[in-house]
Amino acid sequence: MNGKTLKVGGSQITDMHESTFFKLRCDPLILAANPQTAPIASVWRAFRHLDQTQWWSRAKLEQYQVERLQTLLTHCARHVPYYRELFAKNNFVVEQIRSLADYRRLPILTRSTYQDQFNSFVTEELPEATLLTDLRTTSGTSGLPIKVQQTNVVGAWWLAFYLRDLEWCGLDPREPVAGIRTLKLATPELEQKFKEGLRSPSWNSILTPLIEMGPSFGMDLKQDPQRQIEWLLQIQPTYLLSYPSNLDYLATLLRERGTHIPNLRRIQTFAETLDDSVRQNIEESFGVPVMNLYSCIEAGYLASPCPSGAGLHIHAENVILEVLDDHGLPCPTGQKGRVVLTTLRNFATPFLRYEILDDATLGDCSCGRGLPLLTRVDGKRRPNLWLPDGRRRTSVQLVEAFRPIEGIRQSQIIQKQVNHIEIRVATNSSWTEQREVEIRQAVTKFFEAPIQVEIGKYDYLPRSAGGKLLTVINELERKNPG
Ligand SMILES: [Zn+2]
Repeated sequence: MNGKTLKVGGSQITDMHESTFFKLRCDPLILAANPQTAPIASVWRAFRHLDQTQWWSRAKLEQYQVERLQTLLTHCARHVPYYRELFAKNNFVVEQIRSLADYRRLPILTRSTYQDQFNSFVTEELPEATLLTDLRTTSGTSGLPIKVQQTNVVGAWWLAFYLRDLEWCGLDPREPVAGIRTLKLATPELEQKFKEGLRSPSWNSILTPLIEMGPSFGMDLKQDPQRQIEWLLQIQPTYLLSYPSNLDYLATLLRERGTHIPNLRRIQTFAETLDDSVRQNIEESFGVPVMNLYSCIEAGYLASPCPSGAGLHIHAENVILEVLDDHGLPCPTGQKGRVVLTTLRNFATPFLRYEILDDATLGDCSCGRGLPLLTRVDGKRRPNLWLPDGRRRTSVQLVEAFRPIEGIRQSQIIQKQVNHIEIRVATNSSWTEQREVEIRQAVTKFFEAPIQVEIGKYDYLPRSAGGKLLTVINELERKNPG
């Protein structure tokens, strides 16, 4: 507590955040004194703590991670059947873990092991004052969904990192925000209302007693993108949050209409990879900067944009995020590797060295924060495509080859057989038969052979149940992985 006293919203605030980025509605000390509002005060305390830890040295942050890890590993050895057996089988003695290097002796946990043996990942007992809240499931675009048990502790820290992310991204919660996303809703009536666009009085109802917040608007990602544009023009939000693939499409529609969203200041993307070309398209068309959030259901907030530099700082107080090469060794700065996560606060369904199937690249930042930095996140790995002669090739080239073809708003590539490709395109009025010829030429060039090309035209492309749009699907890889 810095002891500053400020007058905000008619009440004396003694525990004001140094930057005063958030306008407090009530003194957190008053909230802490009431058992009903005490959990919100704990969110503020956690956020204030993060305000300090972000400036700690790398060594001090690692020491902090190791201390939390020791508590978590002790818990896992006692109460989580899967880890109890794993530790015994690998002669992994928790008391001997004194550094992250020691910890790396633990084998990597695959997504399929977690899915297949979910029940053995659920703790038999919870630490004192930890309560189960909801059971969340991932959208499962890459296979079966993943179940994650949430607790009150995970929830409080989730909100603290939410506040940090808002502050770093410069999103003032008093301004109106619009989110176009997927949501599980209780009734078909609510779902229909969500599709048409909903208004809530605040960004986050739980934080209402603590922070001054403006209205938030929400719309279903499955809504027709033309309708999404109409809605945005009507509500005129200051900030817009959505998936990169959706924003990419909206950007193209805006350009076609020759219009823009008045008053919009920033866009935040999440849930999918933000490619450079997609970012560029969105920024040019909307005319505002795009911030990218790296998060997942399994671990919550993973990394957010550095407020004063390029790249995303890892929320190291929440997660140990390793970037590993093909031999399982830590990648040096600048080298892309696979992401492996350890959640530091989930004692209900702990994730220890869990492979999330994303790729990322570590870098350096000169802003003074000790939190490690990611220069790139490559999201869910795009599958390779198989050439008729047996070679496999990264699909990025083909995705990029379609971009300059006029008349295409969105595209999706599906490999059905080694010699059979389906291309789905959402087209606009400048689409002609000549574009089909260009697509076929690009496909033939990529596969280095004449193969069967099926082209399907859509107004907009169908999304998976979880709302994500997979730009590339290899059906051969699903049947016969590896
Ligand atoms: Zn930085």
